Amino acid sequence: MNLEAFDKIKIENLVVFANHGVYPEENVLGQKFLLSAVLYTDTRPAGKSDELAASIDYGSVSHAAAKYLQDNTFRLLEAAAEGLAKELLLTIPHLEAVTLELKKPWAPVGLPLETVSVEITRGYHEAYIALGSNMGDRKAYLDGAVQALKRSQGCLVKRVSDYLVTAPYGGVEQEDFLNGVLCLRTILSPDELLKLLHTIEQDAKRERLIHWGPRTLDLDILLYDDQVLETEELTIPHVEMHKRDFVLRPLAQIAPYKRHPVLEKTVLQLLEEVEKTG
Ligand code: AMP
Repeated sequence: MNLEAFDKIKIENLVVFANHGVYPEENVLGQKFLLSAVLYTDTRPAGKSDELAASIDYGSVSHAAAKYLQDNTFRLLEAAAEGLAKELLLTIPHLEAVTLELKKPWAPVGLPLETVSVEITRGYHEAYIALGSNMGDRKAYLDGAVQALKRSQGCLVKRVSDYLVTAPYGGVEQEDFLNGVLCLRTILSPDELLKLLHTIEQDAKRERLIHWGPRTLDLDILLYDDQVLETEELTIPHVEMHKRDFVLRPLAQIAPYKRHPVLEKTVLQLLEEVEKTG
C-alpha cells in the first residue's frame, strides 16, 4: 500500500447522528458525530473519460458511511472506524485505501473540549504466498489452498504460478514436493493473514510429526508490500526465501522484477545467485 501513488477524493465533516459511546446513555440518546474520509484511488480513468462509473461516487460513500454508523452501535470510536473502513474497502469499487477520521464533538469527559477523534488508514496490500505439499494428492491440496484464499473475505488471488516438482529439503527421506507461489491482494494485516493461512493448513489436516518432514499443506508469507517485519510469530520477508530455488523459481514466473526489500535484488537476480551456487 503506497498511499503516495494514489489520487485522493475527500469528504469533510459529514454529520451523522448515531449511538456510539462507552456510557449507556450515549447508546440510548445518541449524539452527533463528524466523519471525514480520504478515499485513495486512481482518478485518471475518470479524469480522461469524465464518467462517474470510472471513479468513486462520493455520494454513495457518504450514504453508505452514514448508514453503517447508524445501523451499528460501538462503544469505541476505534471500533466504529475499523468496521467502517472494512465495509468501505469491501464494497466501494476502485477504492484502494481509506483514511477515516471520526470525531465526537463535546465528548463527555467532564471538561470543556471541542472534539475528540480517531483517525485510521486501511487499504489493500499485496502479498506473495508460497504453497507446498508432499503428501497425498499434492495438486489437490495446493488447488484447495488457492480456492480457500479466493473464498476469503477481503482477499483476491491475482496470479498463481505453475506448480513445480522439487526434491525434499532438509535431509529427511520423503516424497517429492509440489511447490507454487501466488500473489494476493488483501485487506488483512500480516498477523491476520498468518492466522488465515494456519486455518487453511489445519483444514488440510496438516500433520507435522517431524520438523522438515512430510506435510499435506504448507503456506508461508514470502513478501507483504515492501514491509520488513520481525515478531515472534512472523518474519517478513520470509527468512529463507532468497535461498530456496523452489520458492524463487515459481516466484520468478509471476513477479520476476519484484525486489526483495532487504537484499534490494530482484527475484530473478536472487534466482540466478541460487542457481550459480547450486
Ligand atoms: P513452517 O510451517 O514450518 O514453515 O513454520 C510455521 C511457523 O513459522 C508459523 O507458525 C509462523 O509463526 C512462523 N513464521 C515465521 N515467519 C513466517 C512467514 N513469513 N510465513 C509463515 N510463517 C512464518
